[in-house]
Amino acid sequence: MTIDDAPRDGLRGGPRELLRLVASGAAVSRADLARLSGLSPSTVSQRVEALISEGLLQETGAGKSRGGRRPRQLAVPTGGALIGAIDLGAHHARLGTLDLTGRVVEARTRPVRIEDGPEAVLGALLDEVAALAPAAAVPGQRGGAAGSGLRGIGIGIPGPVHYDTGRIVSPSRMPGWNGFDVREFCARRTDVPVVVDNDANLMALGEHRAVHADLDHAVYVKAGTGIGAGVISGGRLHRGAQGSAGDISHCRVVADPGPLCSCGNTGCLEAVASGAALVAALREQGVPVEDLTGVMRLIDDGDRHATALARRAGRSIGEILAVVVNFFNPQVVAIGGRLAECEPLLASMRATLYERCLPLATQALLIERVVTGADVGIMGAAQLVVDRVVEPG
Ligand SMILES: [Zn+2]
Repeated sequence: MTIDDAPRDGLRGGPRELLRLVASGAAVSRADLARLSGLSPSTVSQRVEALISEGLLQETGAGKSRGGRRPRQLAVPTGGALIGAIDLGAHHARLGTLDLTGRVVEARTRPVRIEDGPEAVLGALLDEVAALAPAAAVPGQRGGAAGSGLRGIGIGIPGPVHYDTGRIVSPSRMPGWNGFDVREFCARRTDVPVVVDNDANLMALGEHRAVHADLDHAVYVKAGTGIGAGVISGGRLHRGAQGSAGDISHCRVVADPGPLCSCGNTGCLEAVASGAALVAALREQGVPVEDLTGVMRLIDDGDRHATALARRAGRSIGEILAVVVNFFNPQVVAIGGRLAECEPLLASMRATLYERCLPLATQALLIERVVTGADVGIMGAAQLVVDRVVEPG
């Protein structure tokens, strides 16, 4: 089957949920799976057989008998199937491999020069991921355990991605990338399926699964060099019709004459509150600052110009998020990316949210930092592949 035939997300009782129940240790037998999933024993058996033949589950001998025949135990094979993941940022990429339960097997960070263009940047990253694990053997064929090796690659792009086609559409600060078909490019270089999404969506998927899996409605803001958000609705990533849902980068927060944005408009959130905007604003004030790291250092040192800008950025993010929260009523708003480490920004964002939202929308609202760390993007990328490739319906 191809990626496009796959259901969009894991369904209750679907193969992915069964796999997760075994991986988490909640289920060790078909009987456990039937009890926990609510599926009939025959449906569970059918799906387990399919997962075993794919090499995604294995039988490890007999468990404890409760009177009758001892049930065969199920386990996720170790050293088996892997997922490749690339989380591309403006200056660095995090890449690695994860197992099907979402555990990071190997991860590393590479500096990248976005301006070198998509072929050079993605080509090198894909080669590096491919070198971490051989492609999966075709089930049923000789020459390798069925299901071992690389099963798919998830890629996060720091710009708008048309989700159905994997094409990048009018990204800011990515010269030469507009209209680039990431999936088609990857299909020429690797035999495994490749799934592409924007980096904020990957952060939302990774953090939601790791930290808030019990919450159905969540908004995750990624505030680094650029600024964006991913939305979880009804427990699933909400992409909207084309894949642009949650992209708050170019919402207007400052009336004319606001700062000129990379998109050509003025007063966009990204032109006021992103890392790139803080660097530009400080330089305009005559403060010699190299990059976002330099800005963060100034804020840590209590520099009043940098701190005032961070507070203004936090208020601007809060104003846009207040609209989102009033409209969407999430249980949690979490902010990640480099700017989430900036306390004055977070405090202003929080204050603005409380000031501008309906009391009903904020009375139980969690406002937090994303806590999953540097691997949140590749964890989301792996989740994306599991959702689209491993779940055969
Ligand atoms: Zn803009």
